[in-house]
Amino acid sequence: MHPSLTTATLTETLTTPIEYAGDVLVIGAGSAGVGAALAAARSGKKTTLVDPAGFIGGTLVSGIPIGGCYDGEKQVVKGIFHEMWERLHALDGCDDHPDQTTWLNIDPEKLKIVLLEMLGEAGVQLRLHTFFSRASMNGSSINAAIVEGKGGRLALQAGLYIDTTGDADLAISAGVPIAKGRTLDGKMQPMSLIFAVGNIDLDRFQKWGGYGKMESVWNEISVREHFRNPRRGNLSGMWGSPERSGERTFNVTRVTGLDGSDAHTLSRAEVEGRRQAWEFLYDFLQPHIPGFEKSFVSWTSAKIGVRETRRIVGEYILTRDDIWNFVKFPDAINCGSYPIDIHSPTDATTDYPTDHFYGGKYWTIPYRSLVPLKVDNLLVAGRCLSATHEALSAVRVMANTMGMGEAAGFAAALALQHKTTPRRLDARLVQDAMLQHGAWLGD
Ligand SMILES: Cc1cc2nc3c(=O)[nH]c(=O)nc-3n(C[C@H](O)[C@H](O)[C@H](O)COP(=O)(O)OP(=O)(O)OC[C@H]3O[C@@H](n4cnc5c(N)ncnc54)[C@H](O)[C@@H]3O)c2cc1C
Repeated sequence: MHPSLTTATLTETLTTPIEYAGDVLVIGAGSAGVGAALAAARSGKKTTLVDPAGFIGGTLVSGIPIGGCYDGEKQVVKGIFHEMWERLHALDGCDDHPDQTTWLNIDPEKLKIVLLEMLGEAGVQLRLHTFFSRASMNGSSINAAIVEGKGGRLALQAGLYIDTTGDADLAISAGVPIAKGRTLDGKMQPMSLIFAVGNIDLDRFQKWGGYGKMESVWNEISVREHFRNPRRGNLSGMWGSPERSGERTFNVTRVTGLDGSDAHTLSRAEVEGRRQAWEFLYDFLQPHIPGFEKSFVSWTSAKIGVRETRRIVGEYILTRDDIWNFVKFPDAINCGSYPIDIHSPTDATTDYPTDHFYGGKYWTIPYRSLVPLKVDNLLVAGRCLSATHEALSAVRVMANTMGMGEAAGFAAALALQHKTTPRRLDARLVQDAMLQHGAWLGD
């Protein structure tokens, strides 16, 4: 935090109106939040989904492909994720098939509509333009989630709360123990601004040598011209849907050393990400890569992409060994195939040992990694689950974050139905509910 912000405090006495948000209140409408809200609502629970954006999807609709659904032989994430894919596919918003590839190239604008339709049909109450700020506690239970939005400040009350903010905003405020970054020094994976480039002459680009050649030219020129973007070695990708002719999306920027859960450093990251995107197009692609001479930045994602911030400490902390050894947990609520993928927090490299993965091998996520310590009426899903820095680097892909959310939504509904806490809930009930709704939980 900026030093000047820590020297003084303001004591406020506030009277906050209370509003009943239903049985389940989901904070954060990314892939995990969508999965959670749909599963809770489809279980018959009145559900509210909160997000500060004016759309649904978080990073899921930032323009990147969905990863993690295929282990080289079979589809390992189904359930709500698969249903979403079917709907998107029907709209020509995704040509790839989750039983054939681990990367699904999507049209993010079509996906935004699909998500709204799914949530609307399930009866999920949306509260957009609303930011969660603080938990009001009653002992070890959350009494209300204090939110600020258009219309003012409110205390939203629910039977059970699900934190899908990516940053564990609700969990940390409620008193859940938190971990951040790698064990060595607390440093986190870098952030990247996703952007799209339009009016590319793709034929000319392919004839010249395409993506592989572009990467090697980048490695030469970025060093020679001292580009501010520190990324060297492999760039993380360029892709696009066929109907967006002449347009490609890029995941190439790298903003290191800043914390995506602090508004001050996050602001610096937004500025740096945007400068790197401009540098990439106007100092690299346009002057050096055939086919890009008349191209332009056609859009940038709504905010910079944050790979990692806070992770909760839960009933189980998923580890690198669990992923590396493809451990099958008895309380598995999600399966995945994606490798360890650590974009170095400090330098230009990426640790991405793909050879060890795929070929029909899959790992699992236990229910206990969604159950936080210390707080009774809370579940957590998505990239702020209980996992180490290394394990998170694999389980963070979006087929899996959506699957985790789905499990949290069913667990919340079941805990309410059985008048128990998520901690005491028998994970087999969650597994049964997921299987009944089309999930795949292993052989
Ligand atoms: C640059 C980058 C590239 C990536 N590439 C890929 C890829 O190619 N394929 C892949 O599958 N995965 C990829 N990932 C990983 C993946 O996108 C994320 O791990 C995943 O989307 C996280 O989902 P989530 O639902 O946990 O969080 P998010 O998608 O971050 O959603 C969190 C939501 O919570 C909301 N929120 C946050 N704070 C609050 C608050 N206080 N109150 C209310 N709402 C709040 C946010 O607005 C957001 O909508 C990438 C990630 C990044 C950053």
